[in-house]
Amino acid sequence: MFDTRAEILEALEMPMEKFRSSFLDRAGELYRDSGRGIVTMAMLGYSNICRSQCLYCGMRAGNSSIPRYRMEPLEALRLTAVGRELGFGRLFLISGEDMGYGFENLLSLVAGAREQGYRQISLACGEFTLEQYRQLHAAGAEEYVMKFEMSDIEDFNRLNPSTDFHRRMEAIEAVKKSGMKLASGNIVDYPGHSLEKMADDIELMRKLDISWAPVVPYMPAANTPLALEGGRGSLELILREIAILRLMMPQVNITAGQPGEDPKNGFGDSQGNLDAIAAGANVLFADLLPAGKADAFHVVDNRNLPGLKHMETMSRLSCLELNMG
Ligand code: SF4
Repeated sequence: MFDTRAEILEALEMPMEKFRSSFLDRAGELYRDSGRGIVTMAMLGYSNICRSQCLYCGMRAGNSSIPRYRMEPLEALRLTAVGRELGFGRLFLISGEDMGYGFENLLSLVAGAREQGYRQISLACGEFTLEQYRQLHAAGAEEYVMKFEMSDIEDFNRLNPSTDFHRRMEAIEAVKKSGMKLASGNIVDYPGHSLEKMADDIELMRKLDISWAPVVPYMPAANTPLALEGGRGSLELILREIAILRLMMPQVNITAGQPGEDPKNGFGDSQGNLDAIAAGANVLFADLLPAGKADAFHVVDNRNLPGLKHMETMSRLSCLELNMG
């Protein structure tokens, strides 16, 4: 299914009711029948310092309105230990492009989390060399998030001025060569996006043979250049993308922590999460950051990632068991 770009584009363009009856409900059922349940991850943003200037991101270097922090490995490991105590077997460690963190520190953070008993560690810490990705894999990381964000080269180079599309694709290839699984995806319906570009984005996810699609609609962040160009991306389009991805790649993980109608609820919107699960998404996150730092990990406004209790509610309402890993 969805063997060609033309088929993807046709599905993106058709009336929503037709899309729902043709694809969306089938995608949700396909995932439900897989028996994998809601895949859970504990998530820790261990540094919000970033050298980059992505035009859409609240943590961009140029945004002086958020307090910056960096957790040394021992401080971060005290928080990841809480995730283990809660029963999480998967950990997602994330940061800005913090060149001051020290690669040895990152290696010891990964190795320390592994010693705590995490069975899967995923990372999103920016662009490194192939040799560094190999070292992170050897230290215990199994998956690396390197989003291409937008497959349109001109859009990418405009919105990500601290790197370029060619360099990003080289980093993606390096992650794959390192032996880690690749998580990658796009931002849906950012100002300047189109259905044609979205079809290309979906095609690229297939070509990259990703393990996880960390896809979200565009969500504006205050004090960023792109927030001046347009508001939040379409909730309907993210659901269409989720369903297409599920039918196209049944084994892939897809972020279910999606926003809903009220932007204040961020990624923890119950209806947004349930709609995403019904379309075939399956991954929810619990934030390990204490409240003050959770606010400062400000990639978007109202990020709002709730914890285990919210996951249990989503499990009950969707009738899918929690898969703690
Ligand atoms: S998207 Fe990542 S690299 Fe870009 S500014 Fe935000 S934290 Fe930095």
